[in-house]
Amino acid sequence: MVRENLAEVERRIQAACDRAGRDRSEVTLIAVSKTKPIPMLNEAYEAGVREFGENKVQEMMDKFEVMPSDIHWHMIGHLQRNKVKYLMGKSYLIHSVDSLRLAEEISAQSVKHGVDTDILIEVNIAGEESKFGTSSEEAIQLVTEAAKLPNLHILGLMTIAPYVENPEDNRIYFRKIRELSVDIASKKIDNVCMRILSMGMTGDYEVAIEEGATMVRVGTGIFGERDYGLK
Ligand SMILES: *Cc1c(COP(=O)(O)O)cnc(C)c1O
Repeated sequence: MVRENLAEVERRIQAACDRAGRDRSEVTLIAVSKTKPIPMLNEAYEAGVREFGENKVQEMMDKFEVMPSDIHWHMIGHLQRNKVKYLMGKSYLIHSVDSLRLAEEISAQSVKHGVDTDILIEVNIAGEESKFGTSSEEAIQLVTEAAKLPNLHILGLMTIAPYVENPEDNRIYFRKIRELSVDIASKKIDNVCMRILSMGMTGDYEVAIEEGATMVRVGTGIFGERDYGLK
């Protein structure tokens, strides 16, 4: 099933790229495997997937241990400072940095472990109360401050758009964060590049690609519905 789902997602990504006049190589598909068992990750791996997204540190570490070593692990979930140390040298990209305190901890742990860590700044672009992420007003300030920290590289922005029935409703937010990204890039802050825009999930990744996403995070569309029921 995973292989068929992947083929369908791939077809839609290509179609969205075609509509937007973009090259397929500009968009990285991250397979969000949270809550899913190893055999399903292996199916995706065998179908060629090398980018996996997880939202819990412990679960990512467990999967990191048993999956092949050429995988890029993306931390996409809210991150507590006391767990940062476990990610060092293991997370390819941390998408969910939303405070200076968290950036400082990632920097300090990176120095301690002798590694460089790539991060994205998470922006709550729709200003939803239930969501993590810095406000768009505070984003530039956060980027400017975090850019001064050692062993830390800011590569772009990430957002989780609102849950909507019609993905067109999120187009405005994708456009807004893209504009914010261009705005920040124009400030030419040292140690900051805005080449990654991580946005779009199963319900809205095609619109996100049309609006400039360079990374889309697709879970349900690849692995099926998640079961959060009691085990
Ligand atoms: C779970 C999750 C996704 C994937 O969601 P789907 O709707 O299943 O594609 C993407 N991004 C983040 C941050 C997530 O937590």
